[in-house]
Amino acid sequence: MEKKLTVLAAAAHPDDLDFQCAGTLIRYVKEGHKVYMNIATTGNVGTKIHTMEEIEAIRAEEAKRSAEIIGAELIHWDLKDADVWLNHERWIRYVDLIRQTNPDVILTHDKEDYVHDHSNVGELVYRAAIWASVANIPECKYPPIAKIPTVFFFDTMGTHRVAPPDHYVDISEEYEQKVLAFSQHESQHGDYLEKQFGVKDYFEYIEIVNKLRGFQSGCRYAEAFRVAQTWPNHKAYRLLPPVQFGPR
Ligand SMILES: [Zn+2]
Repeated sequence: MEKKLTVLAAAAHPDDLDFQCAGTLIRYVKEGHKVYMNIATTGNVGTKIHTMEEIEAIRAEEAKRSAEIIGAELIHWDLKDADVWLNHERWIRYVDLIRQTNPDVILTHDKEDYVHDHSNVGELVYRAAIWASVANIPECKYPPIAKIPTVFFFDTMGTHRVAPPDHYVDISEEYEQKVLAFSQHESQHGDYLEKQFGVKDYFEYIEIVNKLRGFQSGCRYAEAFRVAQTWPNHKAYRLLPPVQFGPR
């Protein structure tokens, strides 16, 4: 029987996964693999007009709609923005997330990304992955899993500060669905983006990045990843779509 994977995509904010790996997640789902999307924070600072409670409720709904379009199971935590720190409590939470979801593959932020929520999620996930399968961590709620998952980092915002990607996923056929998922995060588009970051159009940003990654890898649209460059993340088979365990 063909092996099916479990995939955990873990990010800081409600729309991060839509930016960086939604096309890849859609491809996993199309191939019949199980996909979890974990969002650490409520996105409570992502507004210039709403109260904290209002924007948290809006963004929870937006994330839910996006995950439905992608076909993933959403695990949305309640941390506040900027409250993702490198400490024991947060690390335990990620060890438990990995135990709870038992993934073969983890996609997460690069440890060099621009804001500490992103970089710390990447660091915590990376530092948790290897411990999810060991015994006797007394604070964990879930039992150890059987194997160590492979960690891939997706692009940083703006694609700055990292080594070139070593894996590409052709998302040409999934691009429209990715944009539809991203468009669910209405509260983050238009006026808010321009006031906060001076960026008018993140749809254009996604198009530019995915087209560039596509150009680099010989297809129309692509998403790019770097495997964690430590033992035992490298495998002699392909874990990103198209998943390929045997010779081609
Ligand atoms: Zn973010």
